[in-house]
Amino acid sequence: MSALSVAAKGQGGLRAVHRAGTICTRYGVTPGKMERRVSTVMDLLEAFDGRATLPVTAATVERHPEALPRYAELGIEFAVHGYFHVDHKQLSLSEQVEQLDRARVLLTREGLTAAGFRAPYLRWSPATMDALGETGFAYDSSQAVHWPLDDTVVTDPYRRALDFYDSFSAAARPALPSLQGDLVQIPYCLPDDEAVVERLRLSPDRVAEEWLGIFRSIHERGELFTLAVHPERIDHCLEGISAVLRAASSTWPGVWFARLDDVARWWRARTDASVEIIPFDAGLRISVRGPSGVTILVRGLEVDGASDRDGRYWRAPGTTVEVAGERRPFVGVHASSPPSVAAFLRQQGYIVEETRRAGDHSVFVERERFSAEEELPLLDELERSEAPLVRLGRWPNGARSALCLTGDLDALTIWDYAMRVFGR
Ligand SMILES: [Zn+2]
Repeated sequence: MSALSVAAKGQGGLRAVHRAGTICTRYGVTPGKMERRVSTVMDLLEAFDGRATLPVTAATVERHPEALPRYAELGIEFAVHGYFHVDHKQLSLSEQVEQLDRARVLLTREGLTAAGFRAPYLRWSPATMDALGETGFAYDSSQAVHWPLDDTVVTDPYRRALDFYDSFSAAARPALPSLQGDLVQIPYCLPDDEAVVERLRLSPDRVAEEWLGIFRSIHERGELFTLAVHPERIDHCLEGISAVLRAASSTWPGVWFARLDDVARWWRARTDASVEIIPFDAGLRISVRGPSGVTILVRGLEVDGASDRDGRYWRAPGTTVEVAGERRPFVGVHASSPPSVAAFLRQQGYIVEETRRAGDHSVFVERERFSAEEELPLLDELERSEAPLVRLGRWPNGARSALCLTGDLDALTIWDYAMRVFGR
C-alpha cells in the first residue's frame, strides 16, 4: 500500500483529496513558512516554560540538515518519525530494523538526540516494538488513546480514524506510560489537531473547550496529556494550546511540563527507585533512593513536617520518613497473583510487597488474572480506600499530572510533502 492510499484509507477518499488541496497553502516551497510555525511553537513554549517533542522523518532531516539543530539547542526534542513517512505495519521486522537504525544514525549525526519514535499514521505492529528495542530506542509514542467527547461533536471521519489508529478509550484504560522490556510506551492522546480541525471541524474556541475538558480529566486522574499539534495547524489551534498551557501553569497541585524523553527517563528511574524499609522500636523507617524529584506521599499516618496536601495524601519532607502503625503501610500483593499486578503497581509509585495472606499490609490485592482493562478499576480501588499508605509520587516534585506538547514534523516544504505521498 502506498503512502497515498494509507492516507486515503485513514481519512476517507474525498478527505484525502480535500487535504491535498489545503496542503499547498500550508507548506511553502522553501522551509521558511514551516520554520516560522516552529518559531511560533517556540514562543508559546517560552512563555509557559514548556517543553516539546517533535518527531521528524529522517528523510526530511536529510534534505534540510541546517533547519533543526538550532531548535534542539533551544530545548526542543526531535524524535524519529520513520526514515520515510510510511505505514510501518506493512514493513517486515528486518525492514524496520534497517530503517530505524539508519534514522537514528542520521539524526544523531546531525546533533539530534533521537531517543524516541512515533509511527507515521500511528500505525505499528509488534515487530515495530521489537525493531525499536533492537535499535536502542528508549521509548515509543505511537499507541493512540482517545478521550471521551460530547456525542454531538463526534463525526464519522473521527470514528474511522480511531479504528484506523487502533485507539483505545481512556474510559477503559489509563493514559500512562508503561514499561515494555527495554522500551517505555507512551500513549498519544486524541483528538489531536488533525482530528479537531479536519475530522471534527471544530472552531478555534470549541477546540479550546474540548482540550481544556480533556486536560481537566487527565489532571484529575493524574495521567499524561500529550497535546499534539502539527506545526502546519498551529494557527487554528493556538487558542486551544494557550488555554491548556494557561490552565496547566495555574493549577494546584501542579503539572509537570516535560518532553517525551524526560517522561521516559523519569518513568523508568522512578519505577527502579530502591525503597529501604527498616523497623525500629516505634515503627518503620522508609528511605527512597531514586531520581531527582522523587517524593514520598503519605496517607492516614502522622509524619513530621508533611506539607502540600493533594487529596488524601501529604507530601513528606525529604526522602526518608518514619511511621508507626499496626500494619505495613504498603500494598501487599498475594503471591498467587500474576507478576503483571505488582509490575503495574510499582510503575504507579506504590510500594509493593509480596505476601501470602491478607492482614499484614494496610492494603491487600489478590487477582487471578490481570488485563489492561483491570488497571483503572484497581487504581480506583486503591485510591478510594482510606487505609494508611506510604507511596512514591507518580510524577516529580509533587506534580499531579504531566503535559507534553508534541506534533510530528511531517514536512518542511511542499517538496517534502510530495515525497511523503510517494513514501520517500
Ligand atoms: Zn506524520
